[in-house]
Amino acid sequence: MAKSNKSGEPASVISTRDKSRSLVLCCALFFTLLIYPVLGMVWHHSYPLLSPELGLIVIAAATISFFLSALILSTRSLVTNLVVTLFVTIGLMIQFNLFFEGLTIVFTMGLILGFLLKDRYIEFVLAVFVAMLMGSWLDSRLDPATKLAVLQPEEASSGRGPVIHVLMDGFMAPEGLPWQDESQKLRAEIMSFFKKYGFELHTRAYSHYSSTLNSMTRAFNFTNDDQALFRRAEALREDLAFRDNAWFEVLSDAGYPIHVYQSESVDFCHVATIDQIQCNVFPIPNLKTVNREIDDVRTRLEVLLRTLVSQSEILTKILRNARILDTWGVSIYDERLLPKLTADIQSRPGDAFFSHLLIPHSPFVFTEDCDINYRGESRTRWAYIVGNLASDSESQNRRYEKYIAQSHCAIKLLGQLFDTLITDNLFDKATIIIHGDHGSSAYNHSPHIANFDLLTQRDLLDAFSTLFAVKWPGGESEIIGDVESLNVLMAKMARKFAGHNTGEMINAVTSEPEPFIYLTGMEPLRQIFVNIYGGPDQGRESE
Ligand SMILES: [Zn+2]
Repeated sequence: MAKSNKSGEPASVISTRDKSRSLVLCCALFFTLLIYPVLGMVWHHSYPLLSPELGLIVIAAATISFFLSALILSTRSLVTNLVVTLFVTIGLMIQFNLFFEGLTIVFTMGLILGFLLKDRYIEFVLAVFVAMLMGSWLDSRLDPATKLAVLQPEEASSGRGPVIHVLMDGFMAPEGLPWQDESQKLRAEIMSFFKKYGFELHTRAYSHYSSTLNSMTRAFNFTNDDQALFRRAEALREDLAFRDNAWFEVLSDAGYPIHVYQSESVDFCHVATIDQIQCNVFPIPNLKTVNREIDDVRTRLEVLLRTLVSQSEILTKILRNARILDTWGVSIYDERLLPKLTADIQSRPGDAFFSHLLIPHSPFVFTEDCDINYRGESRTRWAYIVGNLASDSESQNRRYEKYIAQSHCAIKLLGQLFDTLITDNLFDKATIIIHGDHGSSAYNHSPHIANFDLLTQRDLLDAFSTLFAVKWPGGESEIIGDVESLNVLMAKMARKFAGHNTGEMINAVTSEPEPFIYLTGMEPLRQIFVNIYGGPDQGRESE
């Protein structure tokens, strides 16, 4: 039986005018669907709009839209609607990192609407996506660095010196570094740097955990209640948020308004018990540097497209398994962060400032002098090669070279901050806490239970060794070589900061029987007693 349109005429005699109107509409729709996640991305990252790589994307999207429209308009409207729904689903998957449930809902709703609206479906979807584009354009007009500011200008300060707390992601303890000459130069630099500025430096600190989220949720809550926390790990991972933050409560109770400077990777801003946190969020990756530092348009285009696709975890996984997509290491440390932090300390010197700096964390694109270098093989910029459990020592050496260069840059950035505070007479009265969350992660074997028999002392140091340093107001420098966990060090620091009148939670964790770590993938969870720095508890071979 021949299909008819609404007026009862056979489909083949639709007027040429209707046909060209449908072609224009369909073309506009596919163009909008293709360009929607691209524009969402470039606006979000404030990427320069007038760049040749974006011009190429626009030309490609327009060409694809035209041919696709011409092709599918010759079919029946329900087939057209099916193809449109498929594009809608893929576009939203990339823009909002949708998983299977979300994708199923979008796809099913699209099919139902396509069936109900028939020929009007294209106009409907076009209107929805134009509205969404407007929405994301308006949203991107807000500077991400000040998006969630809630601190009132009249809010009182503590009346004391600033508390400056910097989490330098992946910063190793000096005694955890490899023994090669370059590493030992870095070790000496770390020691003399913290000595020069009057810090108490813990040279053998470590974390029980090899990931940021596990490490910091425990350290900030002075807790070793891992069974409970690991059970909640799924919920934690979902929003990567610190709903409980005992350390921020200590600061808040001491009368300190809190400013947070963070990336989009982990959320420290939304603490259940504190309603006023000045929140600064910096987008990752730092795409603007790609436009600034890479001359080749083809490479810039490739980076943009890879970044676009990697917004969807599902798509990334599929392409990586098919060996089509390899991670391209775009800087995830945003160079605007420290200048913003410094300016805020100068304007409100009685407040507390916490910042999560994604340096010396991979990708290692910063040189010793903090220039960006995107040349060379991108694989060596990552701490570990994704998907490969074991790597060879040659590639590890190359990654450590880059890690060490980037660590010199990290120290240089800290030095600039401290020197500014000295010039402004703020340094002496400041309490400054600097630490990492795990090691360099440049290990040969990842700290996974499946690698239990393969892990060397080097692997354990690469995974768990971490920096911890505190400068008290008017404090003198001190080098402490005890093997202590971040949990204990944070608890002791908080107890000293708040005075004797501190909660049971802080006191409970200030002693741990002996060093232990957790490996990932453990079921059931158990503490592995090992001193990663060697000594009597050392049950493993060193290299
Ligand atoms: Zn980390």
